[in-house]
Amino acid sequence: MRQRDRNRANAHRLRVDGHSIRQIAKQLQVPRSTIAAWIRDEGEWHEYRNCQLCGSAFRVNGGNHRFCTRQHAEKYARMYLAGRKPKQERYRERIRELEAEVYVLRAALEIRDAA
Ligand SMILES: [Zn+2]
Repeated sequence: MRQRDRNRANAHRLRVDGHSIRQIAKQLQVPRSTIAAWIRDEGEWHEYRNCQLCGSAFRVNGGNHRFCTRQHAEKYARMYLAGRKPKQERYRERIRELEAEVYVLRAALEIRDAA
């Protein structure tokens, strides 16, 4: 790998880790304008997260994505969610959770209305 390619790859990695353009330029000894051009297509303002399955960083497109790819989301679901408990029991659990939530919200409403 040529030095330039290595620098570029490192710039992306540092960016994903949350470093600023200035910090990356200093660390790699590359002009800031070059760093900026390299990472421009990644979008400076984009949020990165780590895949909950494989740990690799990915760019969040909005929403509460937790996986780098759909395949990993499905794999995670198969590994950790499916087969954990029978579906019916999970639904019953969810119903209890929602009922508790409704109870709390009702109580909050009553308190508000009484005020
Ligand atoms: Zn992944």
